Amino acid sequence: MARINDNYLKLPGAYLFSTVARKTNEFTQAHPDREVIKMSIGDVTKPLAPAVIEAMHKAVDEMGTAEGFHGYGPEQGYAFLRDKIVEIDYKARGIDVDADEIFVSDGAKSDCGNIGDIFSADNRVAVCDPVYPVYVDTNAMAGRAGEYVNERWSNLYYMPCTEDNGFMPELPKENVDIIYLCFPNNPTGVAATREQLKPWVEYAKNNGAVILYDSAYEAFITDPDVPHSIYEIEGAKEVAVEFRSFSKTAGFTGTRCAYTVVPHELKVDGVELNGLWNRRQCTKFNGVPYVIQKAAEAVYSDEGQRQTREAIDYYLENAKIIRKALSDAGLTVYGGENAPYIWAKTPDGMKSWDFFDKVLEETGVVTTPGSGFGPSGEGYIRLTAFSTKENTIKAMEKIKNIL
Ligand code: PLP
Repeated sequence: MARINDNYLKLPGAYLFSTVARKTNEFTQAHPDREVIKMSIGDVTKPLAPAVIEAMHKAVDEMGTAEGFHGYGPEQGYAFLRDKIVEIDYKARGIDVDADEIFVSDGAKSDCGNIGDIFSADNRVAVCDPVYPVYVDTNAMAGRAGEYVNERWSNLYYMPCTEDNGFMPELPKENVDIIYLCFPNNPTGVAATREQLKPWVEYAKNNGAVILYDSAYEAFITDPDVPHSIYEIEGAKEVAVEFRSFSKTAGFTGTRCAYTVVPHELKVDGVELNGLWNRRQCTKFNGVPYVIQKAAEAVYSDEGQRQTREAIDYYLENAKIIRKALSDAGLTVYGGENAPYIWAKTPDGMKSWDFFDKVLEETGVVTTPGSGFGPSGEGYIRLTAFSTKENTIKAMEKIKNIL
């Protein structure tokens, strides 16, 4: 008799963003004449850069010719893209990464979850609280999280990120095997400096742990002390996998391209994770379409770099507008300087969902309640800088008026 993976049944029902969407729909239905401005979900609004579109068109035309047609591609990604990643994302920053340590994929989300395939089910996993929910849910699906009781998974090790510790997790006090770190952080928008990352690499080395480092937002870093890659920290290649994405860097949220770095030096039980991940990808993944990889390659051209930089600067300007408006209105705000997220403390200790409801009801602006990212997110809301500048300004005026 077939049996299901009953770990799926343990997952809590409503996903954060579906509840936000339901409440937004209810508001729209109740007030069809009122404007709704979404500052909630982390999706970009600017179109793809002209250099990217041009490369994509060219690749589409190639696919219609006998010489230029591409069928199944290498599961790890085409050399033309992996070489550019090595050269511009790593070598240019003084980091030595080989092309065969790069695995091009359709998303950092999928990779952050799928990477669990190559780890035993009895690893103890540490996550930040609040956290990007994908790390938690994928480990729960794999049976690594235990039971869900009182909004916590019994086998996960939670690392609170609070105002008191500057939203920087403290090193685990118990033994953990896998540590998810995400900087610049979603949802808090806080970035880790080199000095702050060093102890994590040390911890991993001393305890035989692996760091799964999500740097999906590295393109938003403005501070020179903040590393773009964990491999800027000495010894990190022996202990860390790094996830990167073209989603927020180049507006590929709907186009789908990302990559994961698994260094050869990284070994668990004497086995190179690079080989295991390669085996996993070759078996379960068909690679990213040629046309999309050509589009991603164009991000690295001079024009592509300039154009995508313009879009990132545009979002960072929105972040500045949000920070200023909310601070002027008396709220305490974090993030938004090296990240497209602003983490705002609710006024008078209001609960996240209560403040979410108040802002939606009184202004039509949709935010994300911090408690949806974990218990330590209670008392915060997250705003994203990915809206248009016009809507960002309008939304901030409205929020200022009700505070
Ligand atoms: N990692 C973090 C921390 C994210 O916030 C997101 C998207 O919101 C992703 C990964 C997903 O990236 P991708 O679009 O490449 O799947």
